[in-house]
Amino acid sequence: MRVLVTGGCGFIGSNFLNLAFKKNFESIMNIDSLTYASNQENINIEDQNNYEFRNIDITNKDLLKKAVLDFKPNIIVHFAAESHVDNSISNPQNFIKTNVLGTYNLIEISRKYYEDNDISDFHFIHISTDEVFGDLSDTGFFKEDTPYDPSSPYSASKAASDHLVSAWKRTYQFPATILNCSNNFGPNQHIEKLIPTIITKSFTKNKIPVYGNGLNVREWIYVEDYCNAVFEVIDQRSKSIFETFCVGSGNELTNIDIVEKICSLINENYNLEHDCLDLITFVEDRKGHDFRYAIDSSKIKNILKFSAKTDFDSALIKTIKWYRSKL
Ligand code: NAD
Repeated sequence: MRVLVTGGCGFIGSNFLNLAFKKNFESIMNIDSLTYASNQENINIEDQNNYEFRNIDITNKDLLKKAVLDFKPNIIVHFAAESHVDNSISNPQNFIKTNVLGTYNLIEISRKYYEDNDISDFHFIHISTDEVFGDLSDTGFFKEDTPYDPSSPYSASKAASDHLVSAWKRTYQFPATILNCSNNFGPNQHIEKLIPTIITKSFTKNKIPVYGNGLNVREWIYVEDYCNAVFEVIDQRSKSIFETFCVGSGNELTNIDIVEKICSLINENYNLEHDCLDLITFVEDRKGHDFRYAIDSSKIKNILKFSAKTDFDSALIKTIKWYRSKL
């Protein structure tokens, strides 16, 4: 199988590539425009002779088309996106360009490539988020048939990209799978995001900002678990093609709980002179802040037999260790 990945220098993409290198793919191409959120050093390419990187912006249709036609993939995993909600609030334009126009370019180029070349085992995997569904109150879960109701410019741009992929599936029988996943955590994530912020500020003895009253709820999945869900989608193509799956872990926590948990783990495992819990500082809430995200993962569990396996605390300790090693 020839796997083309977009956004492979970002958080989830780099974890995906590092796991993909241990599998038997014939060839892997990574297309990434190396935005501030990327870091090529997170990709373990030593001894990897079936890997090619191209520095291409997916909004550049000509270069993107050339890369697809040169590489001739039968699997495309589309991670590339602008991904930080706060940035989407202050500057939405790049989110519309990359997440909407970039996704349009990729699916339209891929569709023509796969139709013209009669690729029988072509499969496009669109990596999306549970944020497209808006938010929940104290009860209930997002499922595949939950109506879309995005709150932020980020989630609206991802919702638009999902709708494009769905329309291509229905209109052109474009063989795609859409994955709507909960919050990921693990190594390689940009420090602007919540868990890397908590860890780095804890070690550097800086204030740990917590939005509003800290009671917003998120469901956290370890990034390698999520990558394994994507590998199941690839391996079980006959069951996953044309489907949408919600992917979560069941690890639902309020923001203040995750902050306190990480601070306590650092206090217990590292001999710091300060108490990390004292660094917690409540700050003005994010505009339009979604209250709760929670996923019903029963469809992917029933159809692909996938469930997140990693123990939550061990994954947090591994993650803390990784960010500590980068300071
Ligand atoms: P990230 O911001 O860490 O990485 C995104 C990557 O895409 C970067 O390497 C960046 O350089 C690249 N990129 C951005 N714009 C590009 C463009 N125009 N052309 C080519 N490359 C471009 O993001 P992430 O957290 O790894 O998320 C990956 C995907 O997963 C995104 O689609 C995101 O919406 C989705 N997702 C993320 C999470 C999460 O918790 N991180 C949860 C659910 C879904």
